[in-house]
Amino acid sequence: MSTPVETAEVIILGGGGAGCSTALHLAQRGVRAVLLERGLVGGQASGVNYGGVRQQGRNPAELPIARRSREIWGRLPEIIGTDAEFSETGHLKLARNEAEEADLIAYLDTARQHGLPLRMVGRNAIHRDYPWLGPSVLAGSFAPEDGSANPRLLVPAIAKAARAAGAVIHEQTRVTGYYHGAGRFELTAEDGRRFAAPVLVNTGGYWGGAVAAAFGEAVPIQPLNPNMAVTEPIRYFIEPNLGVVGGNVYLRQIPRGNVILGGGHGESEADPANGRPWSRPLAEVTLETLRHAVRLVPALAGVQLIRSWSGIDGQMPDRIPVIGPSRTTPGLFHAFGFSGHGFQLGPAIGAILAELVTEGRSTTPIDAFRIDRFPVAAATAS
Ligand SMILES: Cc1cc2nc3c(=O)[nH]c(=O)nc-3n(C[C@H](O)[C@H](O)[C@H](O)COP(=O)(O)OP(=O)(O)OC[C@H]3O[C@@H](n4cnc5c(N)ncnc54)[C@H](O)[C@@H]3O)c2cc1C
Repeated sequence: MSTPVETAEVIILGGGGAGCSTALHLAQRGVRAVLLERGLVGGQASGVNYGGVRQQGRNPAELPIARRSREIWGRLPEIIGTDAEFSETGHLKLARNEAEEADLIAYLDTARQHGLPLRMVGRNAIHRDYPWLGPSVLAGSFAPEDGSANPRLLVPAIAKAARAAGAVIHEQTRVTGYYHGAGRFELTAEDGRRFAAPVLVNTGGYWGGAVAAAFGEAVPIQPLNPNMAVTEPIRYFIEPNLGVVGGNVYLRQIPRGNVILGGGHGESEADPANGRPWSRPLAEVTLETLRHAVRLVPALAGVQLIRSWSGIDGQMPDRIPVIGPSRTTPGLFHAFGFSGHGFQLGPAIGAILAELVTEGRSTTPIDAFRIDRFPVAAATAS
């Protein structure tokens, strides 16, 4: 006897921030959605990232999504029952020379066009307002509505709310077979279970590229492995989330005292054919990041690291994601390849995909993210 097929109106492949928020928004619209996740929800990039909830510095095309998402971040307790430790500490982006300072000044216009509150902290004010910054810092720009959150908490809470709203979420369900015919998708899990629906949402993160390839639209996606570390708890004094022009170091301190740092890249084994993804930080990259961090905040000299790690996100060549309908397969929608900055965007991605699926349009502009900005590469039939 063949395995019975579980049917739904929409199948969502991938239970990171993008997929779980899509499940929530579709369920809230009364759509029967089934989400399939290879491991545990939030087990990949969405659960191991730096936790930056940052709008400033984004590609201007992303700002409308970032603004929409930021509005949702502010309402998380009423939507998912927790704020996921979201804290509006502001994000301070630092310049260490005149060229970097000019970059910050130039971005003020972009921010203004998108209604993003942002102000320069000039050469005199920067050391008066942040006396713990080192002499290498010349100036900064401060986005008061930005901040950070705990990535471990966000996605499981969104998934719980999605389930409560009626979504079905199957964890430990790795999809290995893809078929589309007669207006219906049929996906097969590694253990033989089958799922069918007229609509498929691809929120597979880095592996979303393999899903697109299975429908004949491979894209030039690469694994991205930000290198992360965290210190022992020390006296709390760094309130804003800190970044620099060029991005070779970023750090934030949580009220408990630990300082979370990122910069550079680790490594990963991310062969889409390999069901056991892993990533790891590189010691020399961690040490280099620490050197940059101590130059920014000299009081960090001598502080002990207690852990380092990495994760796997999908990076597109132009560093913005793929979001929108497939060009090959009616009923297929993509949202993947967030290129190292999709944690902040996650809450709005579900709202946008739910609009696309149920109304065929998005109220937030997403044209820049079309998959057909990449030429059709070798098709992989499945
Ligand atoms: C170390 C690190 C630091 C980062 N820091 C930040 C930050 O500070 N701020 C920020 O905004 N962004 C940050 N990012 C980026 C952000 O985490 C990601 O862009 C975002 O989480 C991507 O969400 P996603 O849902 O697309 O992907 P994921 O979270 O990767 O979710 C995709 C899911 O799909 C599942 N899946 C894939 N293939 C299959 C299959 N065949 N069958 C079933 N399930 C499948 C995977 O198991 C995975 O759970 C960081 C990323 C990393 C790795």
